[in-house]
Amino acid sequence: MTTTLPPNWNWQDSAECRGTEVVLFFGPDGERQPEREIREREAKAVCAGCVVRPECLAYAVSRPEKYGTWGALNEDERASGRRRVTRRANDERKAAERDDGEAA
Ligand code: SF4
Repeated sequence: MTTTLPPNWNWQDSAECRGTEVVLFFGPDGERQPEREIREREAKAVCAGCVVRPECLAYAVSRPEKYGTWGALNEDERASGRRRVTRRANDERKAAERDDGEAA
C-alpha cells in the first residue's frame, strides 16, 4: 500500500511577503504593461530578501502556478523556464536514442 504525504507548507511561515498586499504579487485586472513592470519590480524586491525563495519557486513551478510573482519570477519567466527544461530533456532523450542507434 502506498501512502501519499500531504504537501509541506511550512516554508510559507517564513515568507517575506507575509502581510503584504496580495495585489503586489498578482496585480489587478486590466493592469497596463508599464504599471505591471513597476509592480513586478517591487514584488521581486521583496522576494530578493526572502529566505524561502527556492521553496516558493519550486512550489510554483511544480503546480504549475499560472499567475503571479513567485520566487522572484513572474508567470512568463516561469513558463519560459519550463519550456527550456522540457527542450533540454527532449534534446538529451534524442541524443541518447541516436547513441543507442549507432551502437546497435
Ligand atoms: S519568494 Fe517572494 S512570493 Fe515567494 S514566499 Fe518569498 S516573498 Fe513571497
